[in-house]
Amino acid sequence: MPDFEPSLSPDTLAVTAGRPPHTPDAPLNQPVVLASTYVAGGEMEYGRYDNPTWTAFEEVLGALEGGRALAYASGLAAVATVLDLVPVGGVVVAPRHAYLGTLGQLGDLVDAGRLSAAPLVDVADTEAVLELVPGADLVILESPTNPALEVADLAALCAGVREAGAVVVVDNTFATPLLQRPLEIGADIVLHSATKYLAGHSDLVLGALVTAPTPRGEQLHELLLNHRKKIGAIPGTFETWLALRGLRTLHLRVERAAANAAELARRLADHPAIERVRYPGLPSDPGHRRASEQMKGYGAVISIEVRGGAEAADRLTRSTRLWVHATSLGGVESTFERRRRWAGEIATIPDNLVRMSVGIENVEDLWADLSTALDGVLASQA
Ligand SMILES: *Cc1c(COP(=O)(O)O)cnc(C)c1O
Repeated sequence: MPDFEPSLSPDTLAVTAGRPPHTPDAPLNQPVVLASTYVAGGEMEYGRYDNPTWTAFEEVLGALEGGRALAYASGLAAVATVLDLVPVGGVVVAPRHAYLGTLGQLGDLVDAGRLSAAPLVDVADTEAVLELVPGADLVILESPTNPALEVADLAALCAGVREAGAVVVVDNTFATPLLQRPLEIGADIVLHSATKYLAGHSDLVLGALVTAPTPRGEQLHELLLNHRKKIGAIPGTFETWLALRGLRTLHLRVERAAANAAELARRLADHPAIERVRYPGLPSDPGHRRASEQMKGYGAVISIEVRGGAEAADRLTRSTRLWVHATSLGGVESTFERRRRWAGEIATIPDNLVRMSVGIENVEDLWADLSTALDGVLASQA
């Protein structure tokens, strides 16, 4: 039994869950356990089956999401695992603007004949998603989406999918369990790229799946645990330990980064170098009302569309000192990226869209750097 109380607030769970028992001379923190094999006679047996450092990380994430967590080698290993649950010839529905790697896996599986179809849909259009649900085996939701920041009506969609008998997975990478708890809203499985906010320091790659505390969720947990043992998409122990350390400050990082993002989004919306700001925290954003209903905050990713097209957007990413031009997101440091620099990025993502991952630096320093660069972009067009 975990020695924490699930009724505690998430901030306290982030700090206290997944600790060794408070016995004399026990370490306060779960140490890194490096082991490929354990002395026979117990339950752990082998390093592909079990590891105490994984368990500590999984206890914290499970407590935060309200379910049972399993860690994976990466977010995409978690995606591949979920897709492996779909029967041969099955159908998977996914957001047209889902994470690019998720869409890549779906495309490959359809091409190989492993799935019979993987229709993509605007996840903010509840009717359109529900129309595709009959006949689907698995529905993947992502909200807010990466990088378009569309917000899905999770309650309506989870209810519709479960009524149809399909499994519903929510990629909760952008929101984190502090801002959105999909298992409470009706999801069967929550998926994370723990690489991002959960770990939070841009120094590791890790994924996770969390199953609901329902009979079906328990069944899925058993399936997933056996699958991980057989397939071996297991996390590195040191990476998991670093992510566990990251989880201890998740609430502080998310709170500060989201406060910075809210302030920057407001200022960006008034800057003449910007055509459009996508951020669910702005009252003018199409996802604002829905996000206000189902989230406890709006997160720390902003997508902007820079006036002057891809060239102006590229100029922006080259002209800052604090903001680092880099892919990925969710670290303590502010980074940004023109997404269409990737040949594989979907054509419906505007080619002047820059996805910004707002960090926990001082907001005035971030704004000074950004607004100077944006003024430079404007001046270059004069
Ligand atoms: C990064 C990301 C993934 C993939 O995770 P990796 O850890 O990079 O494998 C999946 N979903 C979302 C929303 C992401 O941002």
